[in-house]
Amino acid sequence: MTAATAKTDHWRPAYVGLGSNLQGPAAQLDSAFDLLAEIPDTRLIRRSSLYRSSPFGGVEQPDFVNAAASLLTQLTAKQLLEELKRIELRRGRKRGEVRWGPRVLDLDLLVCGSDKIEEPGLTVPHPGIAERNFVLLPLMEIAPGLTIPGLGRLANFPVNRDEPKISRIV
Ligand code: AMP
Repeated sequence: MTAATAKTDHWRPAYVGLGSNLQGPAAQLDSAFDLLAEIPDTRLIRRSSLYRSSPFGGVEQPDFVNAAASLLTQLTAKQLLEELKRIELRRGRKRGEVRWGPRVLDLDLLVCGSDKIEEPGLTVPHPGIAERNFVLLPLMEIAPGLTIPGLGRLANFPVNRDEPKISRIV
């Protein structure tokens, strides 16, 4: 069954985290925003500024560029994640890459409506939201009033002081 035939009948807000540190990261994110806008039964509502962040996880590699997007979608979380993985592969992402290693494009489904899902291959809300400034800061920019299902108001999440540097670039 395709995503288009299995969609739900109502529109829900969803939030996506974007990251890249290979092959022109800022251009990668620009093109990823365009591809997000083409997901079936989904609208791209807002895109954050781009942020430059130092790598996380101890692997020697270039800085990342990160951002966040807000969508309205009729897809389920599972369908939306499939669409995000399809975009990653289309942009040259290889499966089986080193965890925390360099990547052309990483798309994380941060929040999907009021869903709280924990199953193999899909955890929503994404567990990194509260832990990583490169997720938290772009998301706060586009959705300052957001409540994360099960975790509370985004505005109350503390920015992590001991994490690698992050700065807004565009
Ligand atoms: P990565 O691309 O390295 O961030 O990890 C991708 C893997 O995490 C995929 O196999 C996904 O199925 C899994 N995953 C679980 N929950 C999520 C989520 N909310 N967003 C993106 N990937 C997720």
